[in-house]
Amino acid sequence: MSFNRVLGQDLAKQIIQKALLNGSVAHAYLFYGPESIGKKLVAVELAKALNCPVSGPADGCDECPSCRKIEQGAHPDFFFLEPTKTSSSAREGAIHIEDVRELQRRLNFLPYEGKTKVAVVDSAELMNPQAGNSFLKTLEEPPANTVLILIASNPRQLLPTIVSRCQGIRFQPLGSGEIRRILQLQEGLEPEEIELRTAQSMGQVEKALNVDTARTDQLRRDLVEMIGTVSYARVDAVFAWSRTRAKQSDSIPEVLDQLTVLLRDLAFLKARDDAALLHNKDLAGQLKPLAARKTLPAILKMAEAAERTRRALQGNANAQLALENMLLAFCDAA
Ligand SMILES: [Zn+2]
Repeated sequence: MSFNRVLGQDLAKQIIQKALLNGSVAHAYLFYGPESIGKKLVAVELAKALNCPVSGPADGCDECPSCRKIEQGAHPDFFFLEPTKTSSSAREGAIHIEDVRELQRRLNFLPYEGKTKVAVVDSAELMNPQAGNSFLKTLEEPPANTVLILIASNPRQLLPTIVSRCQGIRFQPLGSGEIRRILQLQEGLEPEEIELRTAQSMGQVEKALNVDTARTDQLRRDLVEMIGTVSYARVDAVFAWSRTRAKQSDSIPEVLDQLTVLLRDLAFLKARDDAALLHNKDLAGQLKPLAARKTLPAILKMAEAAERTRRALQGNANAQLALENMLLAFCDAA
């Protein structure tokens, strides 16, 4: 029943439903994986299953007052903590120690209506250090009848002591079939638009729904051109490209995502020469001659450089320097 409403994530759902059936649900879970692929939905379904008085242990019924209140975020034993911004100019919110303390206070009571209190901490990596240390105490001595669920897309940014006290469950990007089904439920999307959005979604629902297809299209073409021209003979272009892209710092993660997918397509063309299976099918005409000019080891080196750059930027690396380093590695591989 209700776990079925979450598309994809079969492995995660299997692990959780097995634990529900066996009565071996952990005190604390860490759901991790890219944004917008169903982590929060699964957390809500787990809370429903733990508290539903109607259906069996492994699922909620979706109909009873308990299931409905959890769904609406109105159940007194279901808590949801997410980052808040301290000012409108702050780029990212944070989870503050006061929020964690308030949650701890409420977790100390027995379940009010249900059987098990469930606390979900969304974007848990945005707990500031004091909040994280305070939360650690709850993980070390979990209150009775309580399940804690941390949700994170960058689990590396969590305190290792927090991670080690949670059972980790990895969530995968959705397959194109699942993304397509979600898009087909939206009104007014033409089939070509659905295909384009599916291809550009990276398996993430939010991206599939909100991607600016014209902008992404421009970006992909820009990247194909960059891969085609980058070389030590054109170092001027390397520095100009890095400077321009570094200025638009918000878009860098997307640039690296699209670059990674394009390089994967190039590697794929090299190995299989089958354009039907490309992610960027519509760019096959430009990608084929590019693949013919590069060796497979060169393409793989470029993909590694892109991945290194992504990690460096998740830390605190300077964007322009990181992009320049990446393109110089591309020159090496050219
Ligand atoms: Zn129910």
